Amino acid sequence: MAGGERFDCVVVGAGPAGTTCAYTLAKAGLSVVLLERGETPGSKNVMGGILYSTILNKVIPNFWEEAPVERRIIKKMFSILSADSELQMGMRFEDFNKPPFNNTFSVLRGKFDAWYAKKAEEAGVMLLNQAVVDKIIMENGKAVGVKTRLEDGDLFADMIVVAEGVSSLLAGRLGLREKQIPEHMVTCCKEVIGLPKEVIEERFGLEGEEGASLEYFGGSVKGMVGSAFIYTNKDTISLGIGVSTKDLKYNKLTPNDLIENFKEHPSIRRLIKGGKLLEYSAHMIPEFGYDHLPKLTMDGLITTGDAAGFVNMNPMFHEGSNLAMASGLYAAETILEAKRKNDFSEKGLAGYRRRLEGSFVFKDLKRYKGISDFALKHPEFFKEYPELLIELAEDFFTVSETPKGRSRMAVIKKGLKRVDLLKLAIGMNRARKVMF
Ligand SMILES: Cc1cc2nc3c(=O)[nH]c(=O)nc-3n(C[C@H](O)[C@H](O)[C@H](O)COP(=O)(O)OP(=O)(O)OC[C@H]3O[C@@H](n4cnc5c(N)ncnc54)[C@H](O)[C@@H]3O)c2cc1C
Repeated sequence: MAGGERFDCVVVGAGPAGTTCAYTLAKAGLSVVLLERGETPGSKNVMGGILYSTILNKVIPNFWEEAPVERRIIKKMFSILSADSELQMGMRFEDFNKPPFNNTFSVLRGKFDAWYAKKAEEAGVMLLNQAVVDKIIMENGKAVGVKTRLEDGDLFADMIVVAEGVSSLLAGRLGLREKQIPEHMVTCCKEVIGLPKEVIEERFGLEGEEGASLEYFGGSVKGMVGSAFIYTNKDTISLGIGVSTKDLKYNKLTPNDLIENFKEHPSIRRLIKGGKLLEYSAHMIPEFGYDHLPKLTMDGLITTGDAAGFVNMNPMFHEGSNLAMASGLYAAETILEAKRKNDFSEKGLAGYRRRLEGSFVFKDLKRYKGISDFALKHPEFFKEYPELLIELAEDFFTVSETPKGRSRMAVIKKGLKRVDLLKLAIGMNRARKVMF
C-alpha cells in the first residue's frame, strides 16, 4: 500500500462497530480500509462475553451457522449475594433453544472479532492490523484522513469512521466529547477459566450447545455500585466484575481485590472449582448516559459504538455489542446516502442521528439514562438492602419450633426496624422509573 492512498472510507477500530460498518460499505462496493491497532482483531478486546445479535443477524443472516459462537444463552440467573449467602432468581426458556436463539450467544472476542473481520475482508475490506491511528487529519474543518504509525503513514478518504472503543482518544482530541469523569465510567476486569465441557454442563444444568448467564449484585462487588457475572462458554467460563470507577477510587480497592473476593464466595467457588485461569484482562465501559453523548458527526466523520458511549446501562441487559453493531450499520447506511448525494458535510450526515433516534439504540439510551445517577445516589440498593433481604430470607426459612405466624411477624418487625419505609418507598419508585 502506498502512503497517501485514498479510499472511500477509513474505519478506525475492528471491533463490532467498525467491522459492521466496514463490511456493509464494502458489500455496497465502496473502497474501505479497516485499521486495527491489535495484532489481530479481538486481541485487544474485552467483553463479558454475551453477544446480542439482532443486528448481526441482519448483516449476516444465520451467522451462527459459521461464526465461532460459544453457547446460546437459554438460561438466565440473577442473584443477590451477601458475604456468604445468596438469593437467586432463575429462568430458562425452551424457545431460546430455537433459531435465532433469542439473539444471545456467549462469545470469546479473540475468536469472534477475528472471524468477523475475515468476513469483512472477504467482502472487499482492506484490513490492516497493528495500525495505530494517532490523529485525524483535518483540512478546513473537515476530516480528510488519518495519521497512522504504519510505515506508509497517512491515509485519506471521503469519510472517516471512528470506532476506536471506550478510550475515544481521537474523538477527545477533536473535542467531540466531554472530558471523561469517573462517574461516567465503569471499571471491569474479567477472567477466562478453563473447565471440561461436561463439568460446565453439569454444574450449570446445560445440554449440548446451551449456555447460561449469571449476574450477581450486592456482596458480589462488596456492596459497591456494580455487579459481577459468569457466562458459560464451550469449555471455559468468563467471570468478571464491573464497578463504578468513582466507587472503586473512593473505596481504595483494585478490580483484582474484587474479582478475588467474588471467586472466594461459597456460591461461586464451587462453580469454578478445579478451573484453570487462562486469561485475565481489564477494561472500561462508558456510561455517559443519553444526556452526555458526544457530538456524533462533523464534516467527513462519524463516531460509533463505545467511542460514542452507546452502552445500555441497565444491569438486566448490559448490552453494548448490539448497539455498537447498530451504530456501525447506521453509519454505513448514512455514508452510502452521502455518497449518492456527494455530500459528506455534517448536514449531509444528518441521517445518522435520525437512524439512531428511530432505533432501539437511542430509545433505550433515553429510557435508561437515569440509571447511573440513581445508582450513585442510592448506594443502599447495593449494600444495605441486599444484605437485609438475605438476612430476612434466612430468618424466614430457618426451621424451628416457633409457630410460623410468630416467626413471620419477627421477620417483618426486624425489617421495619432496619429500614426507613419512606426512604425505601421513594427509592423503589425511582428505581422503577429508571429501570423498567
Ligand atoms: C468487561 C466487559 C464486559 C462486557 N460485557 C458485555 C456483554 O456481555 N455484552 C455486551 O453486549 N457488551 C458487553 N460489554 C460492552 C462491549 O464490549 C462494548 O460495548 C463493545 O465491544 C463496543 O464495541 P466497539 O466496536 O464500539 O468497541 P471495541 O469493541 O472496544 O473495539 C474498538 C477497536 O478499536 C481498536 N482501536 C482502538 N484505538 C485504536 C486506534 N487508535 N487505532 C486503531 N485501532 C484502535 C481496538 O483495538 C478495538 O479492536 C462489556 C465490556 C466490558 C469491558
